[in-house]
Amino acid sequence: MIEQPTDPPLDLSDVFAYVDANQQAFLDRLIAYVSQPSISAHGIGIGEVAEFLVALLSSLKLDTEAVPTSGWPMVLGHHTTSPEAPTVLLYGHYDVQPPDPLEAWISPPFEPTIRDGRLYARGVGDNKGQHFAQILALESLLACRGKLPCNVIVLLEGEEEIGSPHIAEFIHQHRDKLQADLVITSDGPVHESGQSCIMYGVRGVASFELRARGANQDLHSGNWGGIVPNPLWTLVHLLSTMKNERGEITIDGFYDNVILPTELEQQAMSNLPLNLEAIKSELDLSQLDEPLERPFFERTMFWPTLTINGLHGGYGGPGTKTVLPHEAMAKCDIRLVEGQSIDEIFAKVEAHIKRHAPDVEFIRQAAMEPSKTALDSPFTEPIRQGIIMAQGHEPLLIPSAGGSLPDYVFTKILGIPAFGVPYANPDEANHAPNENLEIERFFAGIKTGAAMLSHLGAKG
Ligand SMILES: [Zn+2]
Repeated sequence: MIEQPTDPPLDLSDVFAYVDANQQAFLDRLIAYVSQPSISAHGIGIGEVAEFLVALLSSLKLDTEAVPTSGWPMVLGHHTTSPEAPTVLLYGHYDVQPPDPLEAWISPPFEPTIRDGRLYARGVGDNKGQHFAQILALESLLACRGKLPCNVIVLLEGEEEIGSPHIAEFIHQHRDKLQADLVITSDGPVHESGQSCIMYGVRGVASFELRARGANQDLHSGNWGGIVPNPLWTLVHLLSTMKNERGEITIDGFYDNVILPTELEQQAMSNLPLNLEAIKSELDLSQLDEPLERPFFERTMFWPTLTINGLHGGYGGPGTKTVLPHEAMAKCDIRLVEGQSIDEIFAKVEAHIKRHAPDVEFIRQAAMEPSKTALDSPFTEPIRQGIIMAQGHEPLLIPSAGGSLPDYVFTKILGIPAFGVPYANPDEANHAPNENLEIERFFAGIKTGAAMLSHLGAKG
């Protein structure tokens, strides 16, 4: 009996050949795109770039609009291939960081320049070159096949670099237009080893300020020390009740909802390249923070932190000043892990402060929820296959980034799994002078986008 394979292996040689044949044209168009400033922090060029994107996506058979928000518009495009096919939401952002300091750029930030196989321009890695690669993947698939392998929603934000202040509101208001099965974001660099990766999560963050007050004025430490309370000591005592020498955060119930890594996540972490001795020597450290026995990646992916960002008050100048300061302030942040929430953690911190130092003022500041997608998601395999087909090697699976991005708007508001598939080189210098993208990675990104969508479509 002859076995008939039900799924013929995917062949994208025509699409890859099309990308190869159009390299120069694609590069020229990327250069034109990154020549247009779109600096959200300064309100420069955003509307023009949004219009450009609406025209571009419309030309690719995407039903596209610039959806107004209370800030800059969201560019939203839809393409439906078949109601049975999965719908992939491709997210990116078309705003860029301010280019300052200008004098540190070798070539001007909005005059894209090629040096040593890299294109230098503000926004080329973060994020224009990466979402432009996704758009060119759609273009290449349409040119070769006349249709896309799955349904696609493109969502491009104009305020990511100022902290995405309106994306949650937008997603809540327009969830009917965002009915997708998964979201893929191509932003940030690949793993620092240069190997591509799939990112499954981010930690959240909750920043706060503590303010302690003593007398209504600074006082003489000889005349008033030991009589008038010192707000700096108040904060030092309070902070020392929040974390012990073993590195454990001692706020009641703080770890209640922390979820430990699954077996798959443990395995993924053990596959990540790590040279601890090199890190310690680079940072001039003799040891890591407590608890000493905690594995490196578990620290940044699966444990929350409490960091004192700054402790201020009194005199810090040259020589001495025997002053008893009248106020003191501490700034702190907590990195939240999946399972914890902003409201839960702020409430626990506030209750702790009420119990230990009721006169200290607690001020909530910026916060963002954590996000996590399961490694055993059914979409892992087609995304992985797409990366292998386009780039020829196995991606690393990264359970979580240590930092924070608003992925929760997808996983928690839309309730869909979120995958990060970055294309940029590890030294892309995003947010810094001389931002750059290796041109080969741009072309590989176009092929990867096409291959991921094709594998996702074949699966549906
Ligand atoms: Zn950025």
